[in-house]
Amino acid sequence: MRIPLIAGNWKMYKTTEEALAFAKELKTMYGDTDVKAAICAPYTQLAALVQAFSGSGIGVGAQNVHFEEEGAFTGEVSLNMLKEIGVDYCIVGHSERRQYFGETDETVNLKLKKILTDSEITPILCVGEDLAQRDAGIEQEVVCAQIEKAFAEISAEDAAKVVVAYEPIWAIGTGRTASPQQAGEMCAWIRKSIEGLYDVDTCDKVIIQYGGSVKPENATEIMDMDEIDGALVGGASLDSSKFMEIVNF
Ligand code: PEP
Repeated sequence: MRIPLIAGNWKMYKTTEEALAFAKELKTMYGDTDVKAAICAPYTQLAALVQAFSGSGIGVGAQNVHFEEEGAFTGEVSLNMLKEIGVDYCIVGHSERRQYFGETDETVNLKLKKILTDSEITPILCVGEDLAQRDAGIEQEVVCAQIEKAFAEISAEDAAKVVVAYEPIWAIGTGRTASPQQAGEMCAWIRKSIEGLYDVDTCDKVIIQYGGSVKPENATEIMDMDEIDGALVGGASLDSSKFMEIVNF
């Protein structure tokens, strides 16, 4: 059985003081639920959030990691550093990192392999097409190619642990959401392509989220789609009440 995961992506928002105020609010609202929740915060907020959410059931994630063990990589953070803090999740290949920081399918694959081989951290792999690709009708081809390259040389056992976030670039931070049908259709294609790479058992275990302008007003209809097991939430995750409404979809 796949347990839905609602993960917030704070991007480059919130100081530690603001993060702790959010954590205090969220903890008081987060009760018994069959849904997992997590916040992926900037590096400097991770240690404080791990402590603040301790025992609450709310997970904490990073937004990136380097694939090398250690070395002369100014400005980067290694997997060991994240393990030491005790994070539960790590976003890999967010479209903003692909677009602005030179992340490629190859580095995404290296990061996934590093996380899966050397830690218990759950990677949240982001894939998605841009508007030109959707308009050209090649979105399925584009996303399935991203999946294939991301999962290269990853065992079935490890593949089953990956969370995939389908995030059409044209829907991120734009207020324009994919229709539940568009999102559900792509998530089904993603599952099919994982089945093609592995087998039914493996693809059945993979959590597939939708991300792109998810908010309390549209969360229910998106989450109602059979193939969608959760959401990666940007803007709306900055407000504890809105985030909680999405968790309670
Ligand atoms: C994201 O950053 O992953 C995202 C989906 O952002 P938003 O919800 O703001 O579109």
